[in-house]
Amino acid sequence: MASNLSLAGSGGNPGIFECPNCRQTIDVTSSQCRFCSTAVDPEAAAMAAEKMAKINRGCSDASFLRTAAISIFAFIGIMFIPFMGLLGLVGYYFLLLAVPFLAIRWWIRFHNIQTDDTDFRRARITVIVISGLILLPWIWTIVSHV
Ligand SMILES: [Zn+2]
Repeated sequence: MASNLSLAGSGGNPGIFECPNCRQTIDVTSSQCRFCSTAVDPEAAAMAAEKMAKINRGCSDASFLRTAAISIFAFIGIMFIPFMGLLGLVGYYFLLLAVPFLAIRWWIRFHNIQTDDTDFRRARITVIVISGLILLPWIWTIVSHV
């Protein structure tokens, strides 16, 4: 068993934040920025670090949501493979329920984050697009069963 795998570097580290002066990523425990020597207010640093961790989580949750949304199309494809139809159907309907659930959860968690972080803005656009697109298979499902 590979027990030496470290998950520490996988984003969402609450110990780092962006220097308010030079925007370099610095350690929350340092008393001054190691790039521009600006003094670090520990309370503000802790809040900034928490916000940054939340932004990172928002980005990774959005990319998970995107993977789930793309998988819907994969399951539609699987439906047409002989003997795999049921698997495709189950996966398709599962994701049809899971993706809106994940999208709503994302909005609840991250809607009030104010940031000009490019990755987060891109993540938000991804979630907006998916929230809109997920309505299409629902409309299709309803129409095809009426
Ligand atoms: Zn700095």
